[in-house]
Amino acid sequence: MSVVGSPGAARGPGAAGGSAPHEAHPAGNLAVAARGLTRVYEVRRGVLRKPGRLQAVGGISFAIEAGRTLAVVGESGCGKSTLARVVAMIEPPSAGELLLGGVDAVHAAPTERRKLRKTAQMVFQNPYGSLNPRKRIGAILEAPLEINTTLDAAARSERARAMLAKVGLRPEHYERYPHMFSGGQRQRIAIARALMLEPALVVADEPVSALDVSVQAQVLNLMADLQRDLGLAYLFISHDLAVVRYLAHEVLVMYLGLALEQGAKERIFARPLHPYTQALLASTPGLAGTPRLQRIVLKGELPSPLDPPQGCVFSTRCPHAIARCRDERPSPRLLDERLVACHLAENFLESGHTADRNPGLRSSQPSL
Ligand code: SF4
Repeated sequence: MSVVGSPGAARGPGAAGGSAPHEAHPAGNLAVAARGLTRVYEVRRGVLRKPGRLQAVGGISFAIEAGRTLAVVGESGCGKSTLARVVAMIEPPSAGELLLGGVDAVHAAPTERRKLRKTAQMVFQNPYGSLNPRKRIGAILEAPLEINTTLDAAARSERARAMLAKVGLRPEHYERYPHMFSGGQRQRIAIARALMLEPALVVADEPVSALDVSVQAQVLNLMADLQRDLGLAYLFISHDLAVVRYLAHEVLVMYLGLALEQGAKERIFARPLHPYTQALLASTPGLAGTPRLQRIVLKGELPSPLDPPQGCVFSTRCPHAIARCRDERPSPRLLDERLVACHLAENFLESGHTADRNPGLRSSQPSL
């Protein structure tokens, strides 16, 4: 992943370094590029009141190369799942550009859109709800081929059986029903289904959060192996920073639909410059290699996206907020090889300040 338009754009996989298990994959082309992606909903608030405007995603930009993972993190309600649905073409953006494999997905003709949909497939959070309980696994895997290809029944069956093996399931599983599988196996089936059309991009929305911790590791290893073998790009939505640290190359921190900090995983985990990123990292104990951060009180709830703060969207909860923060919204700017949207980010960088050096901050666990 690279930030669209930034000096760090289109970097090769080796640039990120670190512990991700797929560093050896060669640099590839861009699987997806988004610029200023925006999704706004009109919300009705009664007969006498004017409809409200809810900006779920507000001008997000990124690019992901083949073989790379961009993780999007943030609290519930920050817009990360909406971003996932827009990138997977499940719902259209209200504004902005979305290129899938270099093709404009926003203004494409209906036939072109159908083709593009195959290139971006989604894996959902709930492996229990995302598989049709009345269909056998073979039929579930073959359905995308039936709709989108001219392959005959024998060829579809052959591909489905090969995909079962690829995701670590056995040939006899082809004839079974979803209820006969564990949560981890069902998520393997969901991943297999997403890969049947050979997409370049997989959008995974909290794919392991419904699984036991021991099973999470197996599914993450599978995703890493598939990425290495098939050159997949992942847009990986998660609230779990330990999971993000394992799988991601780049990280985008979202809050009220906006990107607050965005860059290489190693840089952000080693020295978070945005106070919100600091708070998220500080709330996740035991992240080896990250600075010891005192937990930061995030005062109050996430503000309503129908009525976001005028200035910095984080100003109502930020322990460092000054008057300027409440009046003027900071634009993301490049600093220490990442984008950060905070008026005071330079101060944090120069002083090496993180929350562990601020004795005035008290402990609290932000609710992710
Ligand atoms: Fe906090 Fe101000 Fe930075 Fe926003 S701009 S994160 S309120 S210091």
